[in-house]
Amino acid sequence: MDNSIASLKAREIIDSRGNPTIEVEAKLKSGLIGVASVPSGASTGIFEAVELRDGGKRFLGKGVLNAIKNITEVIQPKIVGLEASQQRQIDEILIKLDGTENKSKLGGNAILGVSIACAKAAAIDRKQQLYEYINHDACLLPIPFFNIVNGGKHAGNQIDFQEFMIAPTGATNFREALRIGVEVYQILKMQLQKKYGKNAINVGDEGGFAPPMKTTEEVIDSIIEAIKEAGYDETVKIALDVASSTFYKDEFYTIAGKKYSTPELIDVYKELIKKYPIISIEDPIFEEDYEGFVEITKALPIQILGDDIFVTNSQRLRKGIEMGAANALLWKVNQIGTLTEAIDAANMAKNHNYRVMASHRSGDTEDSWVSDLSVAIECGQIKSGAPARGERTAKYNQLLRIEERLGNKAKFPKNIF
Ligand code: PGA
Ligand code: ZN
Repeated sequence: MDNSIASLKAREIIDSRGNPTIEVEAKLKSGLIGVASVPSGASTGIFEAVELRDGGKRFLGKGVLNAIKNITEVIQPKIVGLEASQQRQIDEILIKLDGTENKSKLGGNAILGVSIACAKAAAIDRKQQLYEYINHDACLLPIPFFNIVNGGKHAGNQIDFQEFMIAPTGATNFREALRIGVEVYQILKMQLQKKYGKNAINVGDEGGFAPPMKTTEEVIDSIIEAIKEAGYDETVKIALDVASSTFYKDEFYTIAGKKYSTPELIDVYKELIKKYPIISIEDPIFEEDYEGFVEITKALPIQILGDDIFVTNSQRLRKGIEMGAANALLWKVNQIGTLTEAIDAANMAKNHNYRVMASHRSGDTEDSWVSDLSVAIECGQIKSGAPARGERTAKYNQLLRIEERLGNKAKFPKNIF
């Protein structure tokens, strides 16, 4: 069998928000094909790899035909003939061909599609699952963080914080964690409907409910009530993605109409973690304020995740590590654009005792490569929205398959929170 790349094909498909995105097929000389599609964020960090969009009238400017042209006309000639398993070499060529800091020439979306499709083709060639191909010894499943109430840019309500997640940290395996997540989600649905009426069970971009609430406390109280009724007080903890850059302006954060300075905001978080079993807060401070991140990491004894501040970029992460900003990395491969760079960032984090949480995007597809990668990098945490809606369940269901395939070898994180 010859695992060198014979051709690249790319097509415009639709993501979960009904916007175009890219699917790439990397075909090997043997005829085997690796297929990968590209997710897309809404609360994107300003330092992320750039998604190339066509502009104009088609798809209201969001078409990706130019990015596709870059794949077939610019990338394909340089990649054909290389071994699909030479991931680092392929990714270095992609980075060089683009030549910009933020992958704005060829498009981070074009580059990512090729990078992952090549990895998938190489795995198929070796008759391995993607996670096994990347890390033969991988056996650690991640704790799922289910986003069950959506706010911020992901929902049409007035809740300022973006994501309210439940994490079954006390589960003994992934299968059980998923069942617990589903039970709490369904009980919350019934309670919300009873209390606020049918409108409250409309869902946001990631499948979490988008109830007509205003305050953070109101949301968390309702989640705690559902956890209690489900009988999981000891097993399930709470995590937040504040996505604070979305309500930061000129030194102040506006929450429920009230303005907060950075020290005042840190006090808000202090009160929240005193009152509730919160184990992790993502992007509590806006993406350019490393000092603010240092302050909050010192002030709160919990996981502080950097998403928009680090954008899965080793350079930005290194600065954070040196300063003591955050203590964990949110890991989104499309923020940086190639598999190699993303894995390098995850390794840098782990080598400096920063935890890592793998993540989907709010606009996502049925593709579940992030599940395999979360196992391959042995990070022990993943967030992929609610346990509902196809593009979210695709990720959780793939983790069920991986756990089953690993059998007795499968491990689940214990006592990390
Ligand atoms: P995004 O949201 O995919 O819209 O960026 C997810 C997140 O902020 O973690
Ligand atoms: Zn985030």
